[in-house]
Amino acid sequence: MNNMDLGYEMFCYQCEQTANGKGCTKIGVCGKTPEIANLQDLLIFQIKGISCYGKVLQNEGQHIDKNIIRFIENVLFTTLTNVNFDSKVHVELLNESQRIKENLRTITGEIHNQTSYATYDLPETKTQMLKDAQFAGIMYDKSLDPDIRSLRQTILYGLKGISAYGHQARELGYEQKAVADLLALLSLGIKGIYLGPTLPAFLSPNVLQYLVDTFDLRLITNAEDDIKTCLKQNI
Ligand code: SF4
Repeated sequence: MNNMDLGYEMFCYQCEQTANGKGCTKIGVCGKTPEIANLQDLLIFQIKGISCYGKVLQNEGQHIDKNIIRFIENVLFTTLTNVNFDSKVHVELLNESQRIKENLRTITGEIHNQTSYATYDLPETKTQMLKDAQFAGIMYDKSLDPDIRSLRQTILYGLKGISAYGHQARELGYEQKAVADLLALLSLGIKGIYLGPTLPAFLSPNVLQYLVDTFDLRLITNAEDDIKTCLKQNI
């Protein structure tokens, strides 16, 4: 069973505007077309495949090319809600995803985790891609436990959210691991983080105030006072 078997032209429920609070199935409330929604499903399918190979490299302690990380982040951001409705961009990203996957295959060789994500090869035409996109749909695996499906999607949407921040920071020239780490910690709801001695440049006064109010973000002062605060005792 897939989206089409359910009689849906698309299935997207990644934002609060989703039709009837359940899912956009004919066209997005935001204007997303079935073509874009289905290309986005296939893009997510493809980066899961790339991740299967990336995990092997990581487990071996090998370095993941920065351009691959940038690509994954860009795909996650591009497929977030109504960020991008350009089918040409989606097809280009799909073609790039296949090139990356094939390059990784040449590095890892045949991997143990032969998932459909890893073994799938993208066809050449958009028409064929759209046909294949059916099996990348959220509802495709009928046997999947609904709670697991839901959890997977929730994690995916969290990653899309993190990538949005990462993407904006990168576009503004703040491609710092520390910034990515901070955003990841905040997205996980970690509070009471100390920052300093200088603030990241993307923190305008309004953004800083929001983070202070929401996440109890604090600025470091001097070493003695900070240690006192952390230990909650006089030294
Ligand atoms: S992003 Fe668009 S298509 Fe998806 S649930 Fe929201 S309104 Fe519907």
